[in-house]
Amino acid sequence: MTSLSVVPSGDQQGRRPDAVDRLFDFSLDMLGTASEAGFFTRLNPAWERTLGWTAEELMSKPYIFFVHPDDVDATLEFAAHGVEAGATAVPLENRYRTRDGGYRWIRWVSVLEAGVWYFVARAVTAAKAAQIDSDQDASVLRAILESVADGLYVTDCAGALTFINPAGVRLLGYESADELLGQGPHATFHHMHREGATYGVDDCPLTMVRTSGHPIHVDEDGFCRKDGTAVAVSYSSAPVTLRDGRGSVVAFRDITEQKRRELRTRRELEALSWVGRIRDALEEHRYVLYAQPIVSVATGETIHHELLVWMVSPAGGVIAPGAFLPVAEAHGLIQEIDREVFKMAMVYAGAGHRVAVNLSADSLSEPGLFRYVETQLVANAVDPTLVVFEVTETALIHNEGVAQVFIENVRRLACGVALDDFGTGYGSFRYLKHLPVSMLKIDQEFVQDLEGEASQINRHVIEAIVTLARDMGQKTVAEGVETESTLQIIRELGVDYAQGYHFARPAPADDVYAATKPRERPDAPGSRPEGP
Ligand code: C2E
Ligand code: CA
Ligand code: CA
Repeated sequence: MTSLSVVPSGDQQGRRPDAVDRLFDFSLDMLGTASEAGFFTRLNPAWERTLGWTAEELMSKPYIFFVHPDDVDATLEFAAHGVEAGATAVPLENRYRTRDGGYRWIRWVSVLEAGVWYFVARAVTAAKAAQIDSDQDASVLRAILESVADGLYVTDCAGALTFINPAGVRLLGYESADELLGQGPHATFHHMHREGATYGVDDCPLTMVRTSGHPIHVDEDGFCRKDGTAVAVSYSSAPVTLRDGRGSVVAFRDITEQKRRELRTRRELEALSWVGRIRDALEEHRYVLYAQPIVSVATGETIHHELLVWMVSPAGGVIAPGAFLPVAEAHGLIQEIDREVFKMAMVYAGAGHRVAVNLSADSLSEPGLFRYVETQLVANAVDPTLVVFEVTETALIHNEGVAQVFIENVRRLACGVALDDFGTGYGSFRYLKHLPVSMLKIDQEFVQDLEGEASQINRHVIEAIVTLARDMGQKTVAEGVETESTLQIIRELGVDYAQGYHFARPAPADDVYAATKPRERPDAPGSRPEGP
């Protein structure tokens, strides 16, 4: 429509005014004029028939007053831009208030000429109104799809993507939807199981939705990102009926964070259940000591045994310390365990066996420990030179002052003190200067790889420790000696003692000591420190 049939003045156009007026009056369309100032200036009777307002009423207020609030902006914008004379008349649709309080959709075709708007308006039919509503629904739906955090995509009946929302593109690590549209998920992000096996298209749940017509939900699966990394996802899919067959809609979600949370909760629960088991075992005295020999590299003789704590389960099985000691340490139960271990160890020492016991950081920083040790030594009539305490550097840092006093006190009694896992911490050498330690236990880390790649460095580390220990009058122990060739190397490097599976695995102390003569060797561990 390029021009309007509403003619402002019959006189100007040279026609008979009454014919135009009659046309105007009888038109079923709503005709009229409006000023640029925003008022209707002339309206035909069709307005009253459509909206219920008289022409006078409609002309008495700015026309915007009758426009639905949601359409005001669009209407004002339209009016502001105007339509140049002779230009194509532009349609506008908006809702007008009726006299009975409702609204009607009106479709306008108008032009602005010499400061006057001329328009033909028509109430939009029900079908048209429905079309407008459905366009609106579609735009709401599009806004939802674009703004949700979950990935959403639609496939056609061949399984190729026809739509994917921005969140889906992002989750799959692509820059734009175009990279994914037109292809099936198996060509792009669902070709592989998380273990690396390829995913058969036919046994894929995503395919089955289209073939079976049934919706599915998968709690956990993996999609591949563009860069080849996997992302853990859960997804739901439902079939949709399309013009040419059955397609599907798929909603998927990154569950990485959710899985991390679940794992943390599971670990916490596990730890809590271990806390209960550790406490029960303490109450029921269900700990046993395992002993592992520490032998002289030169003679092969056992100089003493390290005692390691194992838990006995209610059913009678034994549990290695690695399974429960970290929990005991984290939940304040290690002091009690260390005391229990020391008490049991003193029974062996009282019978004349040489023992080494471990003390954790918490135990070492407890001021009452030394009194407890003294009491146990006395109660079991133990010769203190038979006892070595193994402490780690971490334990020393924990509460330096208290730890130092403990070490000085037990050394004064002539017990031995071994610095455990030596070389793994930062300040190892610092402690050597300040503490009257009698023995350095070189950590397995340096010993086990003496024949491997890092062997040169490890040999240098061991050499340095041996030299240092000799200067300080301390003995060295290589931990984790598993082979004869390792033993040969540490012998060449001048290490004094060795411990490891090559000689014996830890075994129940009762059995070990039953087969051992008490006071295996008269020298070494607890020998008095030099000087006063
Ligand atoms: P640790 O003090 O360094 O004890 C040596 C660990 O190395 C033991 O592990 C022992 O079984 C293992 N081991 C010995 N020889 C070899 C070998 O040739 N190869 C390898 N791969 N490993 C070897 P275990 O018995 O599992 O004890 C683990 C840790 O638990 C101990 O490390 C110690 O820190 C702690 N622990 C054990 N008993 C007690 C205790 O009564 N109190 C405290 N506070 N800690 C203890
Ligand atoms: Ca140890
Ligand atoms: Ca160790």
